[in-house]
Formats: sequence, C-alpha cells, structure tokens
Amino acid sequence: MQKLRELFRILFTFDPTARLDLFATFPLIRRFFTHRSNLAILRTFGDFAFTGLILLGLFGPQDPERNISLFLAWGIWWTGVVLSWFFVGKFWCGVCPFLGIGRLLQRFGLSLNLDPPHALRKYFIHIAVLLFAAIIWAESVADMKHWPLGTAVLLLTILFGATAMGMLFKGQAWCRYICPLGKVIGAGATMSMIELRPTPGLCRSCETTACKKGRPGLRGCPVYLGAHNIRNSLDCLLCGRCVLLCDRESPRLLLRNPFVELVAVKGRDLSCTFIIPFLAGSQWARYIDKNDWYHTFTSTFFNSAALSFTVLLTLCFAAFLGIITFGNHLLGFRRSKLPIHCSPMIPVLTPLVFSGELIYRLDYLLSEAGRFPQVFARQFGLAVEGFSFVIPTWPLTTLSLVILVLGYLGSLYVTFLFKHRKSQPPPENFSSGSLQALVGTVTLVYLFLVFW
Ligand code: SF4
Ligand code: SF4
Ligand code: SF4
Repeated sequence: MQKLRELFRILFTFDPTARLDLFATFPLIRRFFTHRSNLAILRTFGDFAFTGLILLGLFGPQDPERNISLFLAWGIWWTGVVLSWFFVGKFWCGVCPFLGIGRLLQRFGLSLNLDPPHALRKYFIHIAVLLFAAIIWAESVADMKHWPLGTAVLLLTILFGATAMGMLFKGQAWCRYICPLGKVIGAGATMSMIELRPTPGLCRSCETTACKKGRPGLRGCPVYLGAHNIRNSLDCLLCGRCVLLCDRESPRLLLRNPFVELVAVKGRDLSCTFIIPFLAGSQWARYIDKNDWYHTFTSTFFNSAALSFTVLLTLCFAAFLGIITFGNHLLGFRRSKLPIHCSPMIPVLTPLVFSGELIYRLDYLLSEAGRFPQVFARQFGLAVEGFSFVIPTWPLTTLSLVILVLGYLGSLYVTFLFKHRKSQPPPENFSSGSLQALVGTVTLVYLFLVFW
C-alpha cells in the first residue's frame, strides 16, 4: 500500500528529484533484464512476426481487403509503439527486430567494425529527419496503409539500413544516429514515466566502465553510450545490456513524473529540436490531406498529388517552426542568447504533439479494427463473409477529445512549471498569458484538423 502511495505521489506531483527505483521495489523487473533469455524470447517473437509481415506484404494478395499485414503493421504495431512511449519510453528499441540480421553478421565477424565517421556524428539528425520525412511522404502519397507491397518495402528498407550499417560500423550506429523511428521514439520517450539512469556515486570510482566497453564474452553498449553516460531518454535503447554488465548494480530503472525531463532539458537537445516540429508539421499535413476539400482545392493548382503533399508538408513544417520561434520569444528567450538547438518551446508543445500522433494512429486502428476479422478470413480462404463490425464514431471522437485535452493540459502544465520553478526563475520578459494563448491556439488548430 505504501509503495502504491509513493508511486502515485511521484507520478502526480512535480518533484524534479523524486524517483522510485523500480529494480529495488520490484526485483522481478531487474531479473527480467539480467536474464538475457527474456529479451531474446521477445526479440525472436518480433523477428518471426516481422518476417511474416514482410512476406505477407511481398507475396500476399495486394488487395487491402485480403491482406492482414496492413492492419498488423500500421494499426497494431505502430499504434502500440506510439502508445508505449509514454509508459515504457524506448523499450520497443530493446526488442526491435530490425537489428537481428546486422547483429548476427557482426557475431560471425562479417562487419568492417569501423568507427562511425565524423560527418555521420555531425549531421545525423539532418539525415534522420530526411528519412522520417521520406517515410511520412511515402505513407501519405503512396497510401501505404492500403498497399501491402509498399509497406513491406518500407520495413525492408529500414531492415536494410540497419543491416548495412551493422556491416560497416561497430555496434548499432544506425540506432544511435539515423534511425528515423528511433529518433521519433526517443523524442516521445522524453515524456515517459520511466527512465534508465546510473547511480552517480557508484560510477564515479568505476575503472572498468564495462557498461560501455563490455567484458570478455559480452559486448558493451550497442550505441556507444554506457549507463554512466545516460543524461536523457533519447539515445538509450533500454536493451538492458549494461544492467548485466555492471557488477556494481549502478543502472537503475526509475519511475518519475513524466514532465521532469521536459522541464530539465528545456529544449536543449538537437534531436527534439528537429523531430518535434517536423512530427507536428507532418501531423497537420496528414490531417489536412485526409480531407476531400483539400484535394479539390489543390487540384486547381497542382496536377500531381506528390507535389501538392510535398508543398503542404513543407508549409506545415515552416508554420510549426514559426510557432516555436514565436513561443521562444514569449518565453523570454532571444535568439542571440541561445544556440540554434536551444528551444524551450519544444518541451512546451511536446505533450500536444504526442497527443496529435496518438489520435492519428488510434483513428486508423479503431476505424479498421471492425473489418479485420473479415480481412483475416479472406486472407486464409475461410468462409466467414459478413463477419465484421463497426465501431461507432462517438467512442473514437470522445477518446480523441480526451487525449487532445490531456495534451493541452500537459502543455499548459509545462508552461506553469517554467514560470514557477523556484530553482530556475524565468527570464524577466517571460510572457505567461501570451504563451498560454499560443498553446490554446495550437490546440484549436489540432481540434479543427482532427474533427473537421
Ligand atoms: S533505433 Fe530504430 S532500428 Fe534501432 S532499435 Fe530503435 S527502432 Fe529499431
Ligand atoms: S554503470 Fe557500472 S560499469 Fe558502468 S561506469 Fe557505472 S559502475 Fe561502472
Ligand atoms: S545504456 Fe545500457 S540499456 Fe541503454 S543502450 Fe546502452 S547498454 Fe542498452
């Protein structure tokens, strides 16, 4: 009972230092990470599931009414991953099947084992955003959610990227630097309820740093980080390898208030500075693209859907960058005071952007769920025609509204924390009312786009 009370206190009151050590409180969780077979079972399941998805997409029927890979990939998998950001951060990356082949080749010595080059380390986020833009573009323009072959090719492309980089570089350079999914999941994980962090007192005197370098028979951190270097939730894959490697039991899985990291980092992170505006801009573009009026309107200017969506995506991205610049101004931060990647408006809008993505994905999941039994039956030649159901619109509308309101309240709460944190008083020209009005306006735009 006391544990439960402590758990609620940490989650629902903002104390930047309050944490619950989940390894100490629930030793089973620690045991889950130290028994490698647990993660191996999950990964093997993922390997089989994704191989099945790819094969179904490549060789199964191309009629979306007869191929279950679409709903499984876009409805179950990706919606599940988006939902998991909040609860378990980057845990998906710990069991991700895209790395399987690369890891196997490395184990057999079929990798050049190079160090990632300077250019990759410098321009990683630009490459990641471009790749993410390509995925969003293809998803909308090529209507991937109704194209089994396209979906399979997309998954194969990510698999190919991870494998090729595994053959070139040591560890998992793909994950550390340019995986677009990993970067989006990482940005979402900054608002997660959990974090993996070292115990500084134990690491200070550590001479082996086995968590990063590994030890005989067990390779070190796949993303060149090591538990002692974890400062945020962006890069750590939550693979648990360091938990096994550290003989001082320094890495801890901690429960925290989900806003702690947003407020502490204040947008001083390159990945979020690029990913959050692009994710938000792409959501606006995707919501607009779903409307008939948009297609009627643009058909008078463009004779190509690809071109019109490219223009729309660019405009929405630019609009969101404008909002962030204006918000930073209201927050009292002038451009001259900050390097380009410092942007406190990013954490303010992260809860709203997270809500926008969740609503978009749930919309597909819930609207397609009723047809899945029929698609399943058709795919396997079963005679259960007519076995489908329709989820009424109102639960989805209500759920979307609730998620959006929670996102709005989350964003308002971050502005409140920026204003009232005694340890870091806001700049003199901090304009709280205007900032709240800006957050309200962005919410209204979401409201308009989601429900219109
Ligand atoms: S970063 Fe990408 S490839 Fe790596 S584990 Fe995460 S989703 Fe998989
Ligand atoms: S996490 Fe463990 S292995 Fe890594 S530096 Fe700290 S004490 Fe050393
Ligand atoms: S820091 Fe630990 S959990 Fe995170 S990626 Fe490295 S080895 Fe895995």
